[in-house]
Amino acid sequence: MDMKNLNWIELDRQAILKNLKSLQKLSGDKVKLYPALKANGYGHGLEPMVEILARSETPGITLHSTVEAEISRKAGWDKKILLVGPVAPDDIDSIVRLDLEPTIFELSFLEQLGKYSQKNNIEIKLHLKLETGTHRQGLLSSELNKAASTIKKYRFLKVAGLSTHFANIEDTINHRYAKGQLAEFKKQSAALKKLGISYESRHTACSAALLLFKETYFDIARPGISLYGYWPSRETYLSYRLGGGENSILNPALSLYSRITQIKSVPADSFIGYGCTYRSSARLKIAVLPIGYSDGIDRGLSNLGYVLIRGRRAPIRGRICMNLMMVDVTDIKGVKLWDQATIIGGDKKEHITADHIAGWCQTINYEILSRLSQNIPRLVV
Ligand SMILES: *Cc1c(COP(=O)(O)O)cnc(C)c1O
Repeated sequence: MDMKNLNWIELDRQAILKNLKSLQKLSGDKVKLYPALKANGYGHGLEPMVEILARSETPGITLHSTVEAEISRKAGWDKKILLVGPVAPDDIDSIVRLDLEPTIFELSFLEQLGKYSQKNNIEIKLHLKLETGTHRQGLLSSELNKAASTIKKYRFLKVAGLSTHFANIEDTINHRYAKGQLAEFKKQSAALKKLGISYESRHTACSAALLLFKETYFDIARPGISLYGYWPSRETYLSYRLGGGENSILNPALSLYSRITQIKSVPADSFIGYGCTYRSSARLKIAVLPIGYSDGIDRGLSNLGYVLIRGRRAPIRGRICMNLMMVDVTDIKGVKLWDQATIIGGDKKEHITADHIAGWCQTINYEILSRLSQNIPRLVV
C-alpha cells in the first residue's frame, strides 16, 4: 500500500458485481435492475460506481437530482437515468439535455413539463409516482383524472412507467402495510389505464421488496443498499432467512481506512480531547487519526466503538473532532507511525461494518455510508 493517502476508501468491484448478480438471480432475467446511485452512490462514490456499472449489463440507474445526473453523464453513463427527486422549474432543460426520465408527483410540474415539450417539440419520457401510503412524494388518487388529461393534452409527453415506494417494508417482519400499498398501486394503475393512459413499465421494488416479495417486481426494480452489500435492516434479513433464503448473497463492498499520524504517551489522570470527556486511569498510548466528523465519522461515536489496528481493537477515546480522532493503542504490540487503521472493513480476525457503526450511534447503515465525505479518495480494487 502506498503512503500517498492518509484517508481512503477501497471499493471492491467484484463484490458490487456479485451483489448485482445475486439480485438479478432473485428477480429473474425479465426484471430490469436500475440500481440507486443517489447520495454519491450511497457514499461509495458516484463516479466509480458509474464506471463499475457501465461495464455491466445494467440498463439504467436511479438518481435523485439533476446534479447527480450531470456527474454520471460526464463519467460516461450513456444508458437510462431514472430521476426520483424533484427538478427545479428553471432546470427543466437539464431533463432534455441529460436525457433523463423524471418522476412526476406534482400536477403543476406535469403541466409545466408538457408546455416545455410542446414549445420545444421534444419528447419527454416520464414516470408517474402514485401515492399508496407513504405520503411523501406521489400523486393522490384524486389527482389521477387531471394527470391523465394533462398527459393526453401534450402529445410529446410519454409515460415510461408507473411507480410507488413502500413506507413500512424495512422496519417490520409484519408486511401487511406493504401489501396494502401494493393493492392500492394495482388499483391505481388499472384506473389510469381506464383513463386512456398507456405505460411501458411499472416498478415498486427497493432492496427490501426485492429481497422479500416477488409480487412487487413488475418490470423494473430499484435496489440501493443491497447493491452495496448491506441488508436494509435486521428485520429484512430475518424475514428473508425465515423464508428460506440462502445466506451470504450480499457482501459489503466498501472499506474505509485512515493512518496513524501521531502516537503519544499520556500520563494517568489526563483528559483526552474537547470537553475533557475522557480521563485516563493509567498511562496510555494514544494514536491520532486525521479523520473526523466532517469526513463522515459520526460525532456520536465519541468515546464509543473502536477502529482496527494491526488486527486489534483500538477504542475511540474522547470526542470525535472535525478532522481528527483519538484511539487507544496502549496494548497493541508494535504499533508505529503511519500504521493503517481500519474504520470500516476487515483486519485479520476482526471486522467492522457500517451496521456496527450504525448500532453504536443509533442510526442506520444507509446514513453511515451516505455521509462519507466526497473528499475521501475512492480506489476501485
Ligand atoms: C433510494 C430509493 C430506492 C432504493 O432503496 P434501498 O432501500 O436502498 O434499496 C428505491 N426507490 C426509491 C424511490 C428511492 O428513493
